[in-house]
Amino acid sequence: MTLRDGSVYLIGAGPGDPELLTIKGHRYLSQADVVVYDRLVNKALLSIPSEFCELIYAGKRKHLHAMSQDTINQVLVEKAALGLKVVRLKGGDPFIFGRGGEECDALDAAGIPWEVVPGITAAQGAAAITGIPLTHRDHNQAITLITAHRRSGRLCIDWDLLLQPSQTVAIYMGLSVLSDIVTGLTERGRPPSTPFTVVSRATQPDQLVLHSTLGAILEHPQLAEVSAPALLIMHHRASHLSAPTIDCNALFARSCGSLSNQLAHQDG
Ligand code: SAH
Repeated sequence: MTLRDGSVYLIGAGPGDPELLTIKGHRYLSQADVVVYDRLVNKALLSIPSEFCELIYAGKRKHLHAMSQDTINQVLVEKAALGLKVVRLKGGDPFIFGRGGEECDALDAAGIPWEVVPGITAAQGAAAITGIPLTHRDHNQAITLITAHRRSGRLCIDWDLLLQPSQTVAIYMGLSVLSDIVTGLTERGRPPSTPFTVVSRATQPDQLVLHSTLGAILEHPQLAEVSAPALLIMHHRASHLSAPTIDCNALFARSCGSLSNQLAHQDG
């Protein structure tokens, strides 16, 4: 199937390792006329579109947007209205804290057809590399994906949701408010012994995993080394579970490099 002219395809790029892009996402990218991509997208994926494809950076940083969401929506609408095949490439999954919904609303309002290609969200990538099962029949029957930030930028947490037992909680965009989250949870009665893991740059060559507890995480000697993007996971990791026994760091480093090499080789 070839992409339709004048349409927008929202593609999830996954958490960082370029090999975690879906086959469908890869195929769509290779047919795009325009790719509008975010900061969290692995740049190796930008070698997939043809040399004639226009690449537009729509990167966002906290408090500093390279492009406002309105401008991004406008670019998507304008490029599609020209009859181009537009790919909107987003980190993780477009519909999980990815503003994909807002972009679809804008496309609907402009009468532009769109399709979503799902991606592996950060919680899934982090679960895979840490060996923390997001669900487990013995411990956690539910998963909560929550963000520590709202549109206003203020900390706004549904504490009752976080205090529910038998669940895994993955907190997105929570690193800068880690101490507020830890304090809020302990003050509301969550035991300090609760397993708590911080995963920085999951599935990327420089990924960092800090396994700790709610009571001890703020004193972790490597906490200062954690850099964004980072995910906080409160869980019930059973002591008998171990982390993956294959050296994932080496594998991911290799796949990050190999995709770009492979594509460069095909092109050349
Ligand atoms: N749509 C994305 C989430 C975007 S919000 C997804 O589905 O994953 C950005 C937040 O996602 C970051 O602040 C961080 O909390 C989390 N995140 C994204 N990529 C990550 C990664 N590789 N490792 C850890 N956290 C990540």
